[in-house]
Formats: sequence, structure tokens, C-alpha cells
Amino acid sequence: MKNKIVLEAKSINKSFYNPVKVDVLKDINFNLTRGEYASIIGRSGSGKSTLLYILSTMDTDFTGELIIDGISIRGKTEKQLAAVRNEKIGFVFQFHYLLNEFTALKNVMLPGFKLDKLSEEELEHNAYEFLKDLGIEKLAHKMAYQLSGGEKQRVAIARALINDPLVIMCDEPTGNLDTKNADIVFNIFKELTEAYNKTLLVVTHDLNFAKKTGRIIELDDGKII
Ligand code: ADP
Ligand code: MG
Repeated sequence: MKNKIVLEAKSINKSFYNPVKVDVLKDINFNLTRGEYASIIGRSGSGKSTLLYILSTMDTDFTGELIIDGISIRGKTEKQLAAVRNEKIGFVFQFHYLLNEFTALKNVMLPGFKLDKLSEEELEHNAYEFLKDLGIEKLAHKMAYQLSGGEKQRVAIARALINDPLVIMCDEPTGNLDTKNADIVFNIFKELTEAYNKTLLVVTHDLNFAKKTGRIIELDDGKII
């Protein structure tokens, strides 16, 4: 169902103390709906990564509310939070953080072991299918360190998909890619929103990339403008 709200950020505020108090996020309010393709832009230091860490439940040290698929993350134990995260959110970091000593296929399977819902055989089958969807099944049995930047990025996307998340969040997914690979990533994301009804939230400093998404959220000095 389109238009169903999958993520709500309500009056999110975040400060760092280093050592003086710096307000990094100020009264952030927005919703994301099913199948939406949204980008967050803003100059360096405007709070994009900090916001993405909060929205992905990796940082719970903030004031305000975060509701994911109807579940408030307040008052949850670390274990309950991890369950929400593993089940609902796929994350692609700025640097791929693939484990070099594992194959591409194994890297894709890893979040599935954490969720612990499918057998190893089922996970392997699904991981291979995602690599195929992304056009990189040839790389399945290569070690992560043997892959190029663009290849690693696609493996990281497959890994974000393995637990069939509702929302996929990416921090600078095209940061170190050339235009051709950035276009490939853009089109993969578009396909995910259109064919699989995933919600995509992408932090980017690439305005050309952002302009092609369905919605731009601009951060300036910790505020949405
Ligand atoms: P962006 O991703 O938009 O470049 P960040 O969210 O990384 O911005 O950072 C926003 C602001 O918060 C910056 O001024 C940064 O220096 C500060 N900041 C980020 N992380 C920390 C931290 N762990 N401790 C103190 N200050 C931080
Ligand atoms: Mg950042």
C-alpha cells in the first residue's frame, strides 16, 4: 500500500558535548511513506550523517520521537531495538564495510544470520538472487578485497536487502563512484522503490542525484529548510 507511513521523525533534537554543547539537530520533523524515494542534502557538517544514525536506530541518544512501522523506539531494550533494526532497516554506509576475508555472497548473507529467520541454505539462495538482480552474480565467490569500488557498492546494496527491509538508508552511496556507477546505483534504488515498494532514504552531497529522487529534504545547520 502506497502512502502508508513507514517512518515518523517527531521533534528530533540532538546535541554533542565536545566539551561545550553543540546543537547538531534542531526540531526535525518528517514522515516517509511506503515506496518513497527521498534524499537528504546539505553542506558538510549540517547534520546529515547524525540524522541517519538516529533514523536507523543506531543512535538513541536524542530527544523527540522516532516511530518505525508504527513502533516507537522509546523504552526498548538493546535487544528489541536490534530486532527492529534487523527486520525493518537496511543500511548502506559511506564506506562499504564489507568483510574482506569473506566472499561477496557471504557478506550479503551476514545480516540474515543476525535476524536468524532463515536457514543457511535459504539465505544463500536469496543472497545469490539479489546479486543476480543487481547484475553481479559473477562476483558471488570472489573475496570482498578483490572487488572494485562500484562492485563493492552493489554488494553492500544486496546486503542491505537480504532481510527484506521496509526502509533502506544510505549515507553517500555514490561518494566514491564515477558518474556511470553512480547512475547504476541511482537506477537500482529507483527499481527498488518502484518494483519492490521499498522506501529509500539517501544522504548525498550530489545535487544531480538528489534532483532525480522523488523528494529532497534539505538540512542547514541542523534544521530542515
Ligand atoms: P554531515 O554528515 O552533514 O557532514 P555530521 O552529521 O557528520 O554532518 O556532523 C554534524 C555536526 O556534528 C558537525 O559539526 C560535526 O562536527 C558534529 N559531530 C558529529 N559527530 C560528532 C561526535 N561524535 N562528537 C562531537 N561532534 C560530532
Ligand atoms: Mg556525513
